[in-house]
Amino acid sequence: MSDTIGFIGLGRMGEPMARNLMRAGFKLRIFNRTPEKAAALAAEGASAVTRPADAVEPGGVAVSMVANDQALEEVVAGDGGLGATLGQGGVHVSMSTVSPATARRLAELHRRHGSAYVAAPVFGRPEAAAARKLWICAAGAQAAKERVRPVLQALGQAVYDLGEEPAGANVVKLAGNFLILSAVEAMAEAFTLAQKNGVDKSALAKLFGETIFACPIYQNYGKIIAAEAFEPAGFKLALGMKDINLVLDTAEVSGAPMPLASMLHDRLLAAFAKGRQEWDWTAIALESKEDAGLAH
Ligand code: NAP
Repeated sequence: MSDTIGFIGLGRMGEPMARNLMRAGFKLRIFNRTPEKAAALAAEGASAVTRPADAVEPGGVAVSMVANDQALEEVVAGDGGLGATLGQGGVHVSMSTVSPATARRLAELHRRHGSAYVAAPVFGRPEAAAARKLWICAAGAQAAKERVRPVLQALGQAVYDLGEEPAGANVVKLAGNFLILSAVEAMAEAFTLAQKNGVDKSALAKLFGETIFACPIYQNYGKIIAAEAFEPAGFKLALGMKDINLVLDTAEVSGAPMPLASMLHDRLLAAFAKGRQEWDWTAIALESKEDAGLAH
């Protein structure tokens, strides 16, 4: 493959990911809606452009990491979008957390232009992105996945192949975020119970993180919840709301009731009502604490 990549979206995740591609030897053309955010990478050698279409070469590779479905639709199909330019033989690696419905629509749009859409949403926060520790869920046409394998390998510690239907990778990502938020709520309730009984919640987080729940979510999020270190956000509560809405929308059209997801939506809504949308999404832990009459 050509070693030039068009990279769209330089937010908390996109910027460190783009930097890792440069470190791996790829040349980057970068686009960000707010142009100032491209300055740091431009100073490191990337070429900044003013439209997504100008970031991609016909038949080349584009990577996008924008906030949500609407942003993704805009950078692909909006004015100056990359969809038409990428053209015959091109591959768009779409790494945002978006709905399976959007993935299906954009896969069809790319197919009409002769290009391929590979959905490659990720697990891991900005620190993991910077450390090349992302776990990547990839789905799309086999040949397209093979072509962009070196790109994905430069971004993460493992790539999981989830088949040829792009939307499948988005379903897996949504299922994962639902499981993470469920764990946050479970820890919050357990920690509140401990605190009401005079037990140090950091000690509880340490014990479970080292024993019966020795996995990254309980270890890393357990520490954040116990310390109530909700600012600055690694993953904003507003993005968590976006994801739980995507889970519930997908559950609805799939005919798959998810009562726990509905409850997590209400936790997020309560946090929104208290003006916490820019906090880390683990801040829903405060809801259980406040229900129990504890101040924070
Ligand atoms: P972020 O810091 O809020 O960055 C969002 C990016 O999207 C920015 O580059 C923003 O441009 C761009 N954008 C937003 N609306 C746009 C629009 N209408 N048109 C064009 N560009 C637009 O978000 P993030 O944390 O990097 O997350 C990016 C994606 O990764 C999301 O889908 C998120 O769910 C997913 N994700 C995040 C994490 C995490 O821990 N943060 C982990 C896994 C997956 P501006 O600079 O102009 O605002």
